[in-house]
Formats: sequence, C-alpha cells, structure tokens
Amino acid sequence: MSLETEFERVSLALENPFTIARGTQTHAENVIVRVTDEGGMTGVGGAAPSAHYGETADTVAAVMPDLLAAVERVGDPHALHAIESELRAVVEGNPAARCAVSIAVHDLAAKRLGVPLYRLWGLDADDAPATSFTIGLDETDRVREKAAAAVEMGYPILKIKLGTDRDRALIDAVRDAAPDARLRVDANEAWTPKEAVAKSAWLADRDVAFVEQPVSADDPEGLRYVYERSELPIAADESCVTAADVPAIADRCDIANLKLMKTGGLLEARRVIAAARSHGLAVMCGCMIESNASIAAAAQLAPLLDYVDVDGSLLLDEDPYEGVELSGGDVRLGEQERAGTGARLVPERTAEE
Ligand SMILES: [Mg+2]
Repeated sequence: MSLETEFERVSLALENPFTIARGTQTHAENVIVRVTDEGGMTGVGGAAPSAHYGETADTVAAVMPDLLAAVERVGDPHALHAIESELRAVVEGNPAARCAVSIAVHDLAAKRLGVPLYRLWGLDADDAPATSFTIGLDETDRVREKAAAAVEMGYPILKIKLGTDRDRALIDAVRDAAPDARLRVDANEAWTPKEAVAKSAWLADRDVAFVEQPVSADDPEGLRYVYERSELPIAADESCVTAADVPAIADRCDIANLKLMKTGGLLEARRVIAAARSHGLAVMCGCMIESNASIAAAAQLAPLLDYVDVDGSLLLDEDPYEGVELSGGDVRLGEQERAGTGARLVPERTAEE
C-alpha cells in the first residue's frame, strides 16, 4: 500500500470578530491536510492552531512535511494506532498539526470501509447531544443582538463568553434576548477564585448550567477552591489538554472539556473521554474556530459526550468545507450519508475548480 499526502494553508474570515477574555480574532488560519490512497480515495483533515497552546499556521506548516512523511512511511490508512504514535514520535508538541493528519487518516480509513466514522466506532447517532452556539465578548447591546439572532437561527443552547467587569450586564442582556435559552458560561481563566465563587452564585440564579474554566490553568489550587464552593458545575478546558491531565483535574471539576486541537489526534481524544469517565467526570468536546475539515470529525464523537460545543465552522463567514449538519443545534449524524467524517468541499466550489 502507498499513500500520497499534501497540505494547504487557508485563511478563513469570521462572520464577526470573535473576542474572548484573552483577545480578538477576525480570521482563522487553518491548515488542510489530504491523504490519498492508491485507488484515488482521499481523506481530509484540518488544523486550527491556537497560540495559547504554542501553535500558529507557520508552526503547523513547518512540521507538516515531517508528519506527512511519517504517514507515507506507515503507508496503511487502517494502521491508525501506528500512525498516531509515529506522528508523536516525529514531533512531540504541535498537537493541532498532528491532529489534522490523524483526522485525514481516520476519514480515509472510514471512507475505504464505506461507513461514517461514528459507525466505525460503533456509536449510535441518536445519542448525540445538541451543540451550543457561542456568543463572544462584545458591547453589551451587540451581545444582546447576537443572542437574539442565535435564538432566531434556532440554537437552543448558548455559550456566553465572560471575563470582563461587565459580566452581569452581559448575562442580563442575554437573558433579556433569550429568556428560554439554555446558557453556559466560559470565563477563559479570567476570574480570581473568590470572584468565580461569587459570580457562579449569581449565575446560578440566572439559570446558567455550568461555568467553564473560571480561573487560570496555572492555579490548580484556585480551581479546587472554586469547585468546592461553586453553586454551579465547573468545566475544565485550559486545565485539561491531554489524557495525562485528567487525574490532576478529577478532584477539582465536574466536566472535562476536550478539544481535538489540544489532544493531537482522534485516538488521544477518545483516551481523554475514557480517562474522564474512569474518574467520574462528565465530558464535553469544544473546538477552536475551525473549518468543517476538522469540525466534522469532532461531531463524530458526539454520541460519547454529555456536552457538545462544535460550532467552530458556524462562526466563519464562509467555510470551503461542509460537514455534519448542525441546523437548530442538532448534531445530525443520523442524516450523514457520506462515509468518513462527512467533510467535503462545498459542491459549488468543486464546480468552480
Ligand atoms: Mg473554553
């Protein structure tokens, strides 16, 4: 067997500038990977590098030739474990870069078998929870408008970014615009432990479901302080990068939030889920701002999750790839007719090329 590989950088404009406690982005720099077998069948994956975890499109592009050479050396797209460990042997860090390759190979393996990836994993499409839709930080009136627009688009669960001195005004504005929405909150490490406890009590009164990463990942004792006193469940995102982090967060949060771009591959993502379950944690899968080249793969994990936050492609102005249908927030795996992750170039674009 032999495999051919290629990669391409894409700069994807966002529909609106996206702001969290750490900063603002207007574009998502993604890297698309393709792995093709002897019969001309192609698997696609994507990297959405995050500077917070030390990656940029430049670092992804820099290591990609070595990663793709490793895939070609293994040569067998069904040798998923061998490929993922070979990728880790080639570059130790660079999780988004490795993840793009892992996704492309999984996509190809499932396509060759003629099944959607979730079916290859033996999962039931009916078990997929609905995804949340994220509202970034903005002027209070804009947040109100965005929440109203999200409800208008049919999204029943909103994830609200906080971590400002206007947090209460922002939630009041969202509740005003979306009285029936299920709300989740993400502070992206911005609160002090005492502030997090006080805000969680206030948020509990506004019927918020849980708080994500209230305090710095560099402050594990602060996370424990919040967990022991918070009126709301606590999700760990920046504090939970790979499966090896799960034991250390198990006694200081309720929910482990994995992201493909942190784990470095789909096998490691499933290890995070298994490790979290074995420690009695609930599991969520989030994302970066990503093309469907990678979001479609995250959606395949949905039946294994308690909470789904895979709206990365929905925040793009235009995604060159389509993936799993997410209209109304439902992760419609059962409607997926395509084998693999379901990612493919949007047909109009294929026709243009
Ligand atoms: Mg988060």
